[in-house]
Amino acid sequence: MVQARTFGRSSAELQQETARLAALDHLDILDTPRDESFERYVRLIKEIFTVDIAIVSFMDAHRQWYKACSGLGGDEVAREDTFCRYVVDSGEAIIVPDTTKDSRFSGHPAVTGPEQIRFYAGMPLKTPQGYVVGTLCAIDRRTRSFSARDAAILKELAELVMDRVELMESAATDSLTGALTRRGFKKEADQMISLALRHHHDLACIVLDIDHFKAVNDTHGHAAGDAVLNAVAAKCRTALRAGDLLGRLGGEEFAILLPHVDREGAMAVAEKLRAAVASEPVNGQHDPICVTASFGLSSLSIVVKDIETLLAQADAAMYQAKHDGRNRCIVWGSLQGDHITGARRRVLKAGSIIFNSRRSVVDCTVRSLGSDSAGLVVTNSVGLPSEFLLAIKGDGFETECRVIAQDTQNLEVAFR
Ligand code: GH3
Ligand code: MG
Ligand code: MG
Repeated sequence: MVQARTFGRSSAELQQETARLAALDHLDILDTPRDESFERYVRLIKEIFTVDIAIVSFMDAHRQWYKACSGLGGDEVAREDTFCRYVVDSGEAIIVPDTTKDSRFSGHPAVTGPEQIRFYAGMPLKTPQGYVVGTLCAIDRRTRSFSARDAAILKELAELVMDRVELMESAATDSLTGALTRRGFKKEADQMISLALRHHHDLACIVLDIDHFKAVNDTHGHAAGDAVLNAVAAKCRTALRAGDLLGRLGGEEFAILLPHVDREGAMAVAEKLRAAVASEPVNGQHDPICVTASFGLSSLSIVVKDIETLLAQADAAMYQAKHDGRNRCIVWGSLQGDHITGARRRVLKAGSIIFNSRRSVVDCTVRSLGSDSAGLVVTNSVGLPSEFLLAIKGDGFETECRVIAQDTQNLEVAFR
């Protein structure tokens, strides 16, 4: 391991970014499900300012993720391609009445290309400690002015959004599926794990993710997608025992905690769930929809004693299940000839993938980290080599890695 390069950032900036990411991690909002109250904010912004586009976004290490967006497609963009990075980096609101006249924006493809973005107002979303975790934006295809009063209104709205984010921390169940929220799940999981450790009983964790769910939304519409999510949660509940925990970790990703169940027992449960999801289509006010899901499993052990690690390992196994063809169950530890068996924690860190004799650097987010392996997320994994250097900015960490599993955005790497 050698000293990390700073990639053009001073060590004070790196420290600031590390603290910012820790604050964002604490909110635990990235990749959480759609939420009507945030949709309401973007609708309101479009109404108040009569703009084409409104966004509530959070800035991850490598990407900008939209909690709610109206007027633009997609739900995330590479951080370096965003206007909002200037807001996050400066900590200040940025108002650009005419993007063609601002040197930061005039050459941007969203300005020069078919999107024809002309006006941008981005307000920081700040935690009570002052960390800028995201932005609230009003964007238009026409140039326009934005008065001090407009800016004051947008600022108030940004504060309301953050109030809402904080309120969400107290919600225990997800309104669409009735499953526990990610926070609710972790809180109950902590208690269940303490009990299991104290009384020396088994405990297993399952993470499942619906396969090709985007295609369900695209083909049948968002309401049908919601019905599928609800049906999958219901199938899980039917198959599980009363004492088991079911949580919705993100859009179409669920987690289950099984007390008094070991690895083999958990495999039987996961197989039962997999079969239940795949066996019959979801019926409703739409054509019958067939879905499958991929499952990853992990279990409590002498080295794995917390929910973050259990989830990270089950998650990595789930990605392996996706990689192996989906609609299957994989246990952590059986991965790739046991190259990566050490404990791993869920983290949120800014990383760099360095290759091509250090001439190429791609930003990534390090989502889980162990002593011999890591889970990374990139905007697009196409074109990345199978071996590279991974640097974690802010930690002074740099090591050679080998890719052992990947899909379009996720990379599982083993350290060499
Ligand atoms: P994979 O098999 O690799 O998991 O592919 P996928 O299409 O399931 O995965 P991807 O992550 O590309 O797409 C997940 C989609 O889930 C994208 C997002 O718009 C949708 N989604 C997230 N939350 C909700 C929700 O609450 N309701 C509906 N209908 N869709 C949602
Ligand atoms: Mg999926
Ligand atoms: Mg998913």
